[in-house]
Amino acid sequence: MIIDFYTVFLVIFILVATVVGYGFYLREKNQELSKIEDGFCPKCKHKSIELIDVRGTGCSPKIITFRCNNCGYENSFTKPNSGCSI
Ligand SMILES: [Zn+2]
Repeated sequence: MIIDFYTVFLVIFILVATVVGYGFYLREKNQELSKIEDGFCPKCKHKSIELIDVRGTGCSPKIITFRCNNCGYENSFTKPNSGCSI
């Protein structure tokens, strides 16, 4: 099996791009969540955000779904369960 420099470079490039892309995705999600926790929709900026679904019980992370009554924006966020002592 021959691994040339180009293949190695390509693999490293894909890995870096994935990590950077995921970092940007998380940052954007955090910004959206902080707006939602203030009660504002990150899309239309109206104060019409409503909590529609909470999933996850016990020590598993909670999946919280928010929806905007004004523009129809909908997004789910994962929150670690702070009430778990283990
Ligand atoms: Zn909205």
